[in-house]
Amino acid sequence: MNYIILGPPGAGKGTQAKNIAGKFGMVHLSTGDMFREEKESDEVVSKLLSAGQLVPDEIVVNMVKKHLEKDDIIKKGFLLDGFPRTVKQAEELDVVLKSKNIKMEGVLLIDVPFEEAVKRIVGRRICVCGASYHMTLLPPKEDGKCDRCGGKLFQRSDDKENVVRERFAVYERQTKPLIEYYEKSDTLIYINGLKDEKDVFAQISSCIANGL
Ligand SMILES: [Zn+2]
Repeated sequence: MNYIILGPPGAGKGTQAKNIAGKFGMVHLSTGDMFREEKESDEVVSKLLSAGQLVPDEIVVNMVKKHLEKDDIIKKGFLLDGFPRTVKQAEELDVVLKSKNIKMEGVLLIDVPFEEAVKRIVGRRICVCGASYHMTLLPPKEDGKCDRCGGKLFQRSDDKENVVRERFAVYERQTKPLIEYYEKSDTLIYINGLKDEKDVFAQISSCIANGL
């Protein structure tokens, strides 16, 4: 089974993708993870990401292609997370999949309104130990301090409000046409992202289990 998962920043897409891939034994192909690896070695990628900008198509497409080459992808299937983000990327992906005779079952869209998404992201706080919190939805026991290790909590630079607004504007501009693209090919599956994490997981699981 092969799926794409789409959603604005703050939709909980990364968490859902990881859990869904785990449940169905698919390979979770996250461009976010790929970028974080590249960020260490690539200054251009690092600068673009810190400013909430998109990495150019050519760089992303090559990166994803490289990962699609791996053998277990064909056996296990994939869940693409963070790609494609533009119609051009989607067209390139179609070409790659077709050349490998890989069929895509569907495109899962976690739908969340703008203001709700901003509220979710701006309140996020993380710790160096990997724990994450939310100032209103999941606050630590002691203000600004990690429950697990006592470390000082901080906000990721791309979770700051101005960067979030920029990320969302980029998403709207680039991804809206992409949604229309998949609507036309009849592969788009709407998921109600206003529900809590468990409910969203159940919605997606049921779509995949029913082969939608
Ligand atoms: Zn910690």
